Amino acid sequence: MTEPTLAHVDPEIASLIQKEEKRQLDTIRLIASENYASRAVNEAASSVLNNKYSEGYPGKRYYQGQAHIDGIESLCIERIKKLFGVEHANVQPYSGSPANLAVHYAFLRPGDSTVGLALPAGGHLTHGWKVSITGDFFSAHQYGVRESDHRIDMDQVAALAREHKPKLIWCGTTAYPRTIDFAAFAQIARDVGAVLAADIAHISGLVAGGAHPSPVGLADVITSTTHKTLRGPRGGMILTTAKHASAIDKAVFPGLQGGPHNSAIAGLAVAAHEALQPSFKAYAKQIVDNAKALADALLSRGVSLVTGGTDNHLILCDLTSKNVSGKRAAIALESAGIVCNYNSVPFDKRKPFDPSGIRIGTPATTSRGMKDVEMRLIGGWMADVIEAPDDAKVIERVRGEVLSMCAQFPAPGLTR
Ligand SMILES: *Cc1c(COP(=O)(O)O)cnc(C)c1O
Repeated sequence: MTEPTLAHVDPEIASLIQKEEKRQLDTIRLIASENYASRAVNEAASSVLNNKYSEGYPGKRYYQGQAHIDGIESLCIERIKKLFGVEHANVQPYSGSPANLAVHYAFLRPGDSTVGLALPAGGHLTHGWKVSITGDFFSAHQYGVRESDHRIDMDQVAALAREHKPKLIWCGTTAYPRTIDFAAFAQIARDVGAVLAADIAHISGLVAGGAHPSPVGLADVITSTTHKTLRGPRGGMILTTAKHASAIDKAVFPGLQGGPHNSAIAGLAVAAHEALQPSFKAYAKQIVDNAKALADALLSRGVSLVTGGTDNHLILCDLTSKNVSGKRAAIALESAGIVCNYNSVPFDKRKPFDPSGIRIGTPATTSRGMKDVEMRLIGGWMADVIEAPDDAKVIERVRGEVLSMCAQFPAPGLTR
């Protein structure tokens, strides 16, 4: 008996998935947190592993039938350890946010103090922002960026650490275009006896590929998503030293989670295998080169960039001087086939739901093989739209250019 396909069983969902795939093919995806996982990663991540329960860790499970599951999780752990050069890896967190909550649970009790980067300055919700459980259940103190140059204010980090004696200090960002000085954070954490957690969710692929300094050896704990620059399936992971291994493992399971998502772990094992190949180093470097080329193209058209440029995969444009809000620009750009997100800029005078900036990044376009030449064209098209967000002719022309560029660069993981 052959089983009916998705299209047969559920044509509504099948058709929406097909349309989403076409959208991913026919648009230039500049959302800095998004990427294209390879076909191999997707195959592993949507496999029969979805059917298996395996609470516990390799060799210590609470269910029978783990002959192959243990092998998969062990391979994943070994590859991640090798890729990042760490002593211990927990690959079970369901995503980046649960990984960060597990770190809180491993080292803190409710009410304990933390120090983290504020959301409007480029930090993540889970580093103690007030609407997050990490800001509500813990006494979170937040640092920002300097008004003068929009770089992380290390003096403020040190002052908050001395004043509040936190048990946990977070570094790592979600909308910050510069490298993180992990050594400076480590010094501050050491001085006050805090655990330093580096959240490399956005940059883990750059770290793995040697295109961003690594926090290994400096941070006590490193968390990451697996689906951003690392190009894996959706998921999270926590890397740590042998000293903190058992606290982290207990916090993830049974502290916070039940059964691990074995299909995601297999997908991550494949992504780690891909990232261990020499070509991944070239990919990581190309992401940064592309971001610099795109930044230059925008600057040459008079678009202001937060901190004046980028060291990583990400660019924050401040559109104040172009007299268009971030949201209006993002909507116009999407009609032209260029997809990004509106974003607050540091010290933004506008509201978060309609802020002054847009955030863009180059991981997804780099996965399609686009290089400096394409980045310069894309930057020019973006400026055209930003300068005339209501001009249907401009949008139509750019949409045409985008479509023909996309046709020349097939995306990994898509079936067409
Ligand atoms: C994306 C991100 C996360 C959260 O990841 P999810 O998988 O969306 O839960 C955490 N921290 C940082 C810095 C991020 O950029």
